[in-house]
Amino acid sequence: MADTFFNRSVEEVLQEQESSSGGLSNAQAADRLKKYGPNALVEGKKKGVLQVFLEQFKDLLVVILIVAAIISMLSGQGESTIVIFAVLILNAILGTVQYFKAEKSLESLKAMSSPTAKVLRGGAKVEVPSKEVVPGDIVFLEAGDLVVADGRVIENFSLKVNESSLTGESEGVEKTEEVIPGEKVALGDQKNMVFSGSLVTYGRATVVVTGTGMHTEIGKIASLMNQTQQRKTPLQQSLDDFSKKLAVIILAICVVVFGLSLYREMPILDSLMFAVALAVAAIPEALSSIVTIVLAMGTQKMAKENAIIKDLKAVESLGSVSVICSDKTGTLTQNKMCVQKIYADGQLLDGKDLQLPNDPQRLLLKIAILASDATSVDGADIGDPTEVALVQLGDLFGVEEVAYRQQHPRLGEIAFDSDRKLMSTLHDIDGTPTLLTKGAIDVMLGRATKIFTSKGVLPLDEAGKQEILRVNNALSEQGLRVLAFGYRPLDAVRPLTLEDETDMTFVGLISMIDPPREESVQAVADAKRAGIRTVMITGDHKVTATAIARKIGIFTDGDMALEGVELDAMSDEELDQKLAKIAVYARVSPENKIRIVDAWQRKGRIVSMTGDGVNDAPALKKADIGVAMGITGTEVSKDAASMILEDDNFATIVKAVLNGRNVYENIKNAIQFLLSGNMAAILCVLFASIVGLPMPFAPVHLLFINLLTDSLPAIAIGMEPARKDLLDRKPRDPKEPILNRSLLGKIFGQGLLIGIATMAAFYIGYGSTQNAALAMTMAFATLTLARLFHGFNCRGEKSIFRLGLGSNKYSLMAFAAGIVLLAAVLLLPFLETLFQVAPLTLANVGMIVLLAILPTVCIQIFKVIRDLVKKG
Ligand code: ATP
Repeated sequence: MADTFFNRSVEEVLQEQESSSGGLSNAQAADRLKKYGPNALVEGKKKGVLQVFLEQFKDLLVVILIVAAIISMLSGQGESTIVIFAVLILNAILGTVQYFKAEKSLESLKAMSSPTAKVLRGGAKVEVPSKEVVPGDIVFLEAGDLVVADGRVIENFSLKVNESSLTGESEGVEKTEEVIPGEKVALGDQKNMVFSGSLVTYGRATVVVTGTGMHTEIGKIASLMNQTQQRKTPLQQSLDDFSKKLAVIILAICVVVFGLSLYREMPILDSLMFAVALAVAAIPEALSSIVTIVLAMGTQKMAKENAIIKDLKAVESLGSVSVICSDKTGTLTQNKMCVQKIYADGQLLDGKDLQLPNDPQRLLLKIAILASDATSVDGADIGDPTEVALVQLGDLFGVEEVAYRQQHPRLGEIAFDSDRKLMSTLHDIDGTPTLLTKGAIDVMLGRATKIFTSKGVLPLDEAGKQEILRVNNALSEQGLRVLAFGYRPLDAVRPLTLEDETDMTFVGLISMIDPPREESVQAVADAKRAGIRTVMITGDHKVTATAIARKIGIFTDGDMALEGVELDAMSDEELDQKLAKIAVYARVSPENKIRIVDAWQRKGRIVSMTGDGVNDAPALKKADIGVAMGITGTEVSKDAASMILEDDNFATIVKAVLNGRNVYENIKNAIQFLLSGNMAAILCVLFASIVGLPMPFAPVHLLFINLLTDSLPAIAIGMEPARKDLLDRKPRDPKEPILNRSLLGKIFGQGLLIGIATMAAFYIGYGSTQNAALAMTMAFATLTLARLFHGFNCRGEKSIFRLGLGSNKYSLMAFAAGIVLLAAVLLLPFLETLFQVAPLTLANVGMIVLLAILPTVCIQIFKVIRDLVKKG
């Protein structure tokens, strides 16, 4: 029915609001609205119950039904009119309830993916939902955070924010804590303020909140606009197009049937009733609601399995995913780092054997603890697992990191960033301001000119670098993650720049293990079986990444591993040629990710890409399914993604893809069920009108079937559990229309079988006495029951013996409910009159059951034979 589940498009809302948007450009406003779509920080105007209820009557097909009700009234069939209106109102109520239920469930999904903020509460740093942030709160910001309130910067470490949602300017803006008193500044230039809706792209800061919700700059703008809702999914759109075309075809056939009846000199009203019956028979009244219900149920199921879908469209696209590009650390691996070997002063040792009297080894540990933010107190680890591992190494030697850091206060820092792959902090070491740096070994060696040994600081020549690289390679080949450590004395304590991370003195290496997640191996194998290619994309070293990829099954003989710089040097043609072979991309930049997605999309593949950082957002948007990490992901990445993994686990992506396939398959089966049933009714009415028989059904009969007894099995089909053999199929071709030839063939063939059984019942009832009332009752009961049985045929491709009758308890419940409803219509005196049914004898009932089950028996025999042939 006219489901108005999804509101108007962003553009429509904007057009309406343009005049009142206070001089805001349309493009700017669209940008803001789009950005605020899923994670709206401000509530917009919502639709009222009455509005939603009335919208249920806007559909062309509903209008046809209203006309049918009026014609029924004119032809003296008052009961039919009442039933049609009752059904229409009931359906509109259901549509309204469904609208608000769906809205509520989307809201709860949104709440699950809504931003959080780190605030100071009771003297401790805690993470709270953005809703709970209040003016006066102290908020801690770091790269990747979404600013959830307006605030004044009170402590600043190279903070840079992107304020494009406010100013339209995509360049990052640097913030300072000073403000020149009395100076009037434009919004984007307010250097000591951060604004809700901006994204922290670099550095960190502490901020005191000055305004939240509607009392923020963005809130003032957003209050001018309605909150937008999601648009229809491609499947819903194509079904809408289908119902429009269907409505036109129905009207055309109705005209023909009407003409035919007049030609037979039937009274005008009777002829009209024939046309009405046909229209009612053909309209799949429940189709659109059922598709929405099944899609929404799919998202609920996925949410239970840790995949939060932010957009119904993603459910459909998931079923077509054929390439999954996944991060390594934390997604394919456990992200539980543990130090293994260390290398300093020319010695390779186990971490626990570190010798503190040895100067380079002692300095190595010192840098590891001071140039990290993580803490590990009484087993509670806080911070980046790489850094937690370093702090735990310190624990082995009795170094308590918090106290140690207090003794050597941090005088400055250059925050870690995955592009630079380094992190540096400034400390006073024995009276000298010293920059302590840790990071990727290739970057560090590129910047190191000296090496610290027990013989003192020596120049680091090419041979020395080769030796370090040899050690690194040996460690990386075991899948270990290797960090390099260095330092540089500075002339004074002063603000740091990236230039300071040069001319370094190399100190040593610390390697750590990050074991693959246990479920990764199985998930990669499942994906492979399902025709889905898994590609590892990581910031880590190529050798480490390849070793892990081998363990997990992503990298097999004949595959290639590529570094970001090698990718940069490749032309698109070269990349296209090698793409299928590249299993691992190491040391990638966010731009590399976009290129990889693009290359696979050029090959017509539907790509899923994971990301957690601020800079990953464009790649997540570009991918067909952008996947953000729920635990470690930045708010920016969550905002850009269409799916969020609550457990950051690769296996969850594979599960979601298979769920997506299952949902699509179930929708297809539900459509087959509904349309083949309708086809049966159409064929019966057409046949009766051509042959000159009385009407086989009253419009109320068909409405009863289409809206009640057919809806329940259709929903049950939508809830069919996923089968193992889903893994054996290739990904669905996204270009293939849902109503393809094979489906149309089944709709017609199965409809014909049910139609024949129904007309046979009609003829038996009609008999020699030409008892039209009994004939109609027999046809109605047979059609209803045959369609209820047919629900089992449409549960899947295979025969019911293979699927298992009890494996979908909802289908049994739907069948039972259908029987109760049919019995009520046939037996309850009040309903008997409304539905104009004639009394049935036991023999009639026996015949109805026999004829109704026959089409299902035929279809099942066909399936059994086909299953056997396929197996043989
Ligand atoms: P993935 O992209 O699969 O999550 P990753 O964690 O290795 O892998 P990044 O976080 O971008 O990717 O890290 C890139 C490199 O930067 C790492 O290989 C490591 O050498 C270095 N690195 C990681 N974390 C830190 C840190 N906290 N401080 C300094 N250097 C780091």
